Amino acid sequence: MERLDRFMARANAAYYATRDPFADFTTAPEIAQAFGEVLGAWAAVVWQMMGAPDPVILAEAGPGRGTLMADARRALRRVAPDFSAALRLHLIEASARLRAVQAAALPEATWHDRAEDLPPGPLVLLANEFCDALPIRQHVRRGAGWTERFVGDGGFVEMPADPPDLGAPDLGTSWLDAAEGAVVETGDAARRLAATLGARVAASGGAVLLLDYGPAARAPGDSLQALRDGRPADPLADPGSADLTAHVDFAALAEAARAAGAAVHGPLPQGVFLARIGLPQRSHALARANPARAAALSAATRRLTEPNRMGRLFKALAITHPALPTPPGFAE
Ligand code: SAH
Repeated sequence: MERLDRFMARANAAYYATRDPFADFTTAPEIAQAFGEVLGAWAAVVWQMMGAPDPVILAEAGPGRGTLMADARRALRRVAPDFSAALRLHLIEASARLRAVQAAALPEATWHDRAEDLPPGPLVLLANEFCDALPIRQHVRRGAGWTERFVGDGGFVEMPADPPDLGAPDLGTSWLDAAEGAVVETGDAARRLAATLGARVAASGGAVLLLDYGPAARAPGDSLQALRDGRPADPLADPGSADLTAHVDFAALAEAARAAGAAVHGPLPQGVFLARIGLPQRSHALARANPARAAALSAATRRLTEPNRMGRLFKALAITHPALPTPPGFAE
């Protein structure tokens, strides 16, 4: 028997080490080149707000194929040559297989296993669909108490447990009254990441932009899902053969970053954020330059921004040095 978070960490490590995740799912940078381009521009504006430190670390956690950062780098060489010259590119990636793919797109990068291993100094870090792959625990309300889910023999086994650690009491008290059988998820790894990055930008300056999927308000529910060969699958069967993800608890990430001394902006629906930072305009410009692709570009923009597509369930959260002005896209 294995606790769910340990099972999920092991299964995803095997999955990313051996499979091509992009055969199973498509992410925003793979849908539209404008996504990486406007996030690169976002980083350049934030760097100006930081006082244009030189050198500065531009980092990405979980870069996948490296598409987001390759699009950002290309745009930055054109629109922000000063930032382009000052930045040192660092990538956080556990999979040796994906590191090789990223190296083909981003030969100048330096790789690390964990955010803690980044070199010191001012930092702008981007992460798209990274936190959703980090392991979660699941507690279940049973009678007056709680159990925790373990994985045994291809199915869940519930063991008596302490109540889930929900973080600050004001975020969690109502969950302690959760109905019989309700599942409550906690993501220690994502919270630790937010705390690490929050402490770091508070001490050395900078900003972190997390884009991922998860609800605006916390609520009980089982969000663990598996994609195998592009289709929903049993998350517990054949570990390493499917991509396992869960909703990101943005309230918990915000709380962890604030407790570490950082300021937090958002979470905002991704559609609102991308519209504010100019994704539709960039997409129009690409369409004007290449009219044959206009319909495809417009379809990609709609997919990323419309509320019933990726525009609402996906969120943007920024974690910044407390003295930094509100970063682009987050002002009311
Ligand atoms: N950001 C990319 C890829 C998302 S898939 C995109 O938007 O297309 C998740 C990425 O995070 C993969 O690159 C995967 O190998 C990496 N990853 C997942 N868990 C990780 C962990 N615990 N440590 C480091 N990298 C991890």
